[in-house]
Amino acid sequence: MVKYYNRVRAVDGVSFRVWQGEIFGLLGPNGAGKTTIIRMLTTLTRPTAGETYVAGYPVGSRQVEVKRCIGVVPQVNNLERELTGRENLLLHALLHRMPRDVRERRIKDLLAYVGLEEWADVRVQHYSGGMARRLLIARALLHQPLILFLDEPTIGLDPPTRRKIWDLLQLMNREGVTVLLTTHYIEEAETLCHRVGIIDRGRLIALGSPAELKERLGSYCVEFLSARGTKRRFFTTRAEANAYAQSQDVDTVVRRTDLEDVFVELTGRDAGELA
Ligand code: ADP
Repeated sequence: MVKYYNRVRAVDGVSFRVWQGEIFGLLGPNGAGKTTIIRMLTTLTRPTAGETYVAGYPVGSRQVEVKRCIGVVPQVNNLERELTGRENLLLHALLHRMPRDVRERRIKDLLAYVGLEEWADVRVQHYSGGMARRLLIARALLHQPLILFLDEPTIGLDPPTRRKIWDLLQLMNREGVTVLLTTHYIEEAETLCHRVGIIDRGRLIALGSPAELKERLGSYCVEFLSARGTKRRFFTTRAEANAYAQSQDVDTVVRRTDLEDVFVELTGRDAGELA
């Protein structure tokens, strides 16, 4: 996939596959190109170049089939604020031409699934951020898509609400939905994703399971403060890391490597840009 906006190389040649049944995460700092990738995969933006397939269909020429197979949770809440939760779902069901009996059952089930039964007949303008995000997920699942795309599913949510969304995504994944999400939260990628693609400046700079990515670097990290800032060294075993730490004449911390380390080592830039 390639996408240029005039001189801006938003996506500069990115290629990857997502397996059926996976939770796949695109991880990267703001402006890396994640949203643009999702928009191209969900038919909302035309690529400058490249070929993309979703559920076996070429996205460029089979948009209707692609749309039938996917659910999309956008980063920005685009629910109808004047309508209730139930009415928002009904509107979506009508757009998808779902038969009456199917849509009524499905709406009822999904409101229960995302824990919004008691709020179903309240206007969306009165919902909290977490409730709106849950309704967006219910809406995206209404027509029983094979693949769910979520752009920053927990951005702006407090930690307990974030965990509820994670539970919901894991539950639906266990029930067979393939999930492709973007995130700039390391913890989200580590907790949820079977595999992660790290995106930086429009390019895919690493791809693998969180464990693989960390192992490639060395599973243990020795961190210490030098005159030129924080230094990190990576080791395969804790014993090697401990031996190195003890040989230093400054205070050190020995810990497990995380995905933030992977990002910093690959880009040579501070992880603050990712947070
Ligand atoms: P991310 O989702 O990783 O934060 P985006 O895909 O939103 O990144 O953006 C990637 C780059 O493309 C950024 O430099 C952004 O400013 C630029 N960009 C995104 N959409 C547009 C657009 N419609 N017009 C011009 N530039 C855009």
